[in-house]
Amino acid sequence: MKELRKIRACRTAVIAVISVLTMLLCACTVNVKTEKKKEAEKPEKSDELAIEVIHFEDEREDDPEEDDALLTEEEADETAEDDNDVPPLPIEPGEVALDPSWEFAEFSEINDGKAILYATEADRKGIVVGINAGHGTKGGMSVKTFCHPDKSPKVTGGSTAEGSIKAAAVSGGMTFRDGTTEASVALNEAQILKDRLLAKGYDVLMLRDDDDVQLDNIARTVIANNVASCIISLHWDGDGLDYDKGCFYISTPEPLKDMEPVKSHWEDHEELGSNLVKGLGNKGCKIYDNGKMTIDLTQTSYSTIPSVDVELGNAASDHSDAALSKLADGLTDGIDLYFASLQ
Ligand SMILES: [Zn+2]
Repeated sequence: MKELRKIRACRTAVIAVISVLTMLLCACTVNVKTEKKKEAEKPEKSDELAIEVIHFEDEREDDPEEDDALLTEEEADETAEDDNDVPPLPIEPGEVALDPSWEFAEFSEINDGKAILYATEADRKGIVVGINAGHGTKGGMSVKTFCHPDKSPKVTGGSTAEGSIKAAAVSGGMTFRDGTTEASVALNEAQILKDRLLAKGYDVLMLRDDDDVQLDNIARTVIANNVASCIISLHWDGDGLDYDKGCFYISTPEPLKDMEPVKSHWEDHEELGSNLVKGLGNKGCKIYDNGKMTIDLTQTSYSTIPSVDVELGNAASDHSDAALSKLADGLTDGIDLYFASLQ
């Protein structure tokens, strides 16, 4: 009987242990399930992450606005750079005297007068157009200056004979058939052209802005060399013809192309001249022959910037305000064409 009790006691103990183990096993299972459940919850976390990512992407979507803002700043910088690219006026607007230290200034004999620099109020192009209304210097005929800086003789005829070493500092100019002087018409044309150019964003250097300026051809050229981007002299030809010959520019003679500063600049002179004639033609102005004539000019010989003498007709040409306005349109078109070709 004792043994039977022991067996029963053992069985009870074993059952108790098994029960405890079972409970522990269940607890573990619950834990595992809980862990599994937690793992099952992870996608929710991933969803949260996804939302966070989307939120981040939303922020990224906001970035383009920031990019826009940056672009705007960059554009502003570029605009500022563009503004900075436009060179400032070389000097203050107003009167411009000949600086005796400038190259070739010592060749000038009449230089008490002043050129006038006008600043545009339109969008500045950073281009100063030198306009020289031909003639208009009292006493200019009685003073002589060297035709060339190397003091070599003139290679063509013109106002001064071929072979001359010196020429009139400023010649008198011709007279229209109705008695009007070339000097006064050239000044009218220069002032009309000045207004056109200022309105388009060009700054303008007027080398003669009055009936008389005490600046000879060399002084005008040297001032332009140091202040302007180009120089355009306005003339009408004194050929004595009784019909309107039309417009042309003065081309550089071959022998001068070996003489400095012509050697370094004559191609620019030709380019500017041909564009002026093209512009005049575009606006319906009559063009003479092939639009050019080769003459040895003092201005060309001392120019270190694109430089042209343009003849806008002759004594028989219409010089009414309407005619001068049409010529100014043509010259402006030519100036636009020339500077556009440099870009
Ligand atoms: Zn002239």
